[in-house]
Amino acid sequence: MNLKDHIRGIPDFPKPGILFYDISTLLAHPAAWQTAVERLADTVAPYRPDVLAGIEARGFLVAAPLALRLGCGFVMVRKQGKLPGETVGHSYDLEYGSDRVEIQADAVAPGQRIVLLDDLIATGGTLRASIDLIRKVGGTVAAAACLIELTFLNGRDGLEVPFESLIRYED
Ligand code: AMP
Repeated sequence: MNLKDHIRGIPDFPKPGILFYDISTLLAHPAAWQTAVERLADTVAPYRPDVLAGIEARGFLVAAPLALRLGCGFVMVRKQGKLPGETVGHSYDLEYGSDRVEIQADAVAPGQRIVLLDDLIATGGTLRASIDLIRKVGGTVAAAACLIELTFLNGRDGLEVPFESLIRYED
């Protein structure tokens, strides 16, 4: 099964010059999606996670079924203002402006092994900020993983944790 056959590249979304990799078609194809989750399970299991953390929003789609499959807990890393109760946040710089990710203060127990998941790594800024956030609440980030990696942006180089991906685009 070639998972690339189930991912659409949509030009000029959300702005001109960006080729957006749309996983809707992968999610809509049960056999392909099951294959993707199984392959991720094989890749992530050796890091022996206690908890998988998914990054809003498509990271939830990846992390939640994988957590069930691996028998792990699942926690959410969300955009500012979305989570109830006490939260901890981490702000990070974008090309223009800044953004902020948050997690519930009690989502992670000290020393728990976390694997972070998102659908795609581009520059790596989102994963980097999420790694910093999880460390702030006392978690150990054992690894990060994505379905898709845009290798030409070298996002993995800035992560400081092991990184895994299933599907790579070289340009
Ligand atoms: P970055 O922080 O630059 O690694 O960007 C990764 C985040 O932006 C992920 O949450 C992706 O869902 C989203 N993203 C960035 N570039 C793309 C792209 N070309 N296609 C789909 N999603 C993207």
